[in-house]
Amino acid sequence: MKRSPAIVESRTEEETTGNTPVRREVEEEPPGRTALKNRARFFGHVSDECWNDWKWHFRNRISSVDELTKYVPLSAKDQEQIRLVTTKYPLSVTPYYFSLIDWSNPDDPVKIQAIPSFKEIGLAGMGMEDPLDERGHSPVPGLVHRYPDRVLMVLTDICPMLCRHCTRKREWRHGGWVHTPAEIERMLDYIRRTEVVRDVVISGGDPLTLSIRRLEEVLSGLRRIKHVEIIRIGTRFPVVLPQRIDDELCSMLSKYGPIWVNTHFNHPREITAEAAQACDRLLRAGMPVNNQSVLLRGVNDTVETQLKLCHELLSIKVRPYYLFQCDEVQGTEHLRTPVETGVKIIEGMRGHTSGLAVPTFVIDLPQGGGKVPVQPNYVVLQTSEELLIRNYQGRLFQYRSPKGPKNGSGRANGQGGRRSNANVNQLAFPSLASSAKAGT
Ligand code: SF4
Repeated sequence: MKRSPAIVESRTEEETTGNTPVRREVEEEPPGRTALKNRARFFGHVSDECWNDWKWHFRNRISSVDELTKYVPLSAKDQEQIRLVTTKYPLSVTPYYFSLIDWSNPDDPVKIQAIPSFKEIGLAGMGMEDPLDERGHSPVPGLVHRYPDRVLMVLTDICPMLCRHCTRKREWRHGGWVHTPAEIERMLDYIRRTEVVRDVVISGGDPLTLSIRRLEEVLSGLRRIKHVEIIRIGTRFPVVLPQRIDDELCSMLSKYGPIWVNTHFNHPREITAEAAQACDRLLRAGMPVNNQSVLLRGVNDTVETQLKLCHELLSIKVRPYYLFQCDEVQGTEHLRTPVETGVKIIEGMRGHTSGLAVPTFVIDLPQGGGKVPVQPNYVVLQTSEELLIRNYQGRLFQYRSPKGPKNGSGRANGQGGRRSNANVNQLAFPSLASSAKAGT
């Protein structure tokens, strides 16, 4: 049945028929409608009180094939394959996130992030367990010290949802663990002794799975350390279980600022009214919210999806911060995209929308090399005096670089270093002098 254009957005998708790529129109419902329909279909018996209670969602996570088949029909083959995958990489989806899945689309981008794929074990030979070598950079168990002035505290491996692209999938087989108070004290002690540390990232797993009391002990411990200036919390709760971001939590967090929250929206359909409210609560409690998305095949690997995601993030006052190349993690190869895809996406965004909407595309290098931005190259040619730069439309411009006091005329911004365009064309860019008409 054709749905009313008023409630349906359309997108186009490439399909291959033989060797010929064709475009097909795919109808996509706006975020809230799928969720409302699914809530009525799957969780119609659940009261509003339970639905708005994050602990109810947490207790009722869908975590086995048998539970999954209570909601959606799966072929015997699919059941068998998911069962096999979950012996290595478990399944856990909150009812809330489950309600966002468009079950009529086998390649639904929300589903891809939540429901196991056989490719997770089919391509298990690819990638590494711990590509960022977090263990090798841990002076104390649970604490990663890779950059000079900041550390990462991993408090738990428990998450409300197990994202299929997770970098720390290796931890899932150990079951849910939370570091003990004694282990957390050892991490705090390391930070106390290491005065260069001014920025502490608390992550996981998801640190907001801890009770408010346990989380407060960590935050107050950090705030008693004079050289710790910034605390950052990495959490996917606003995306997968926004009900967790309640007044009680925000009121506790607001006592320990400055706290910056990094969350992880990957697709515009994840930006629901509940998610927007969760981010708004954090903001009102004084915590800026940034988004770190992961570039995933079939989820958000087009300019259109990224533009929509980033525009909608800005509309809920969340800043698009990083777009990560999916790490070389075992069990995620099918979700990884060529680096070129990320560069092309940034190129398709930069200049076509506000700079505020363009995240930095980064690769987190293996062996703990750290995050490195990978950007389109806009500098076509460069000498010590001039650059030839293309803009977002592909037009070429000559740009004079001022001479520094050492190698120049002594007049950093004066006319002493100016060269005529004719000279630049002849000396610096001979091959482009005739073809590149600067500034046009
Ligand atoms: S929320 Fe983050 S840490 Fe938890 S499973 Fe998802 S990607 Fe991994």
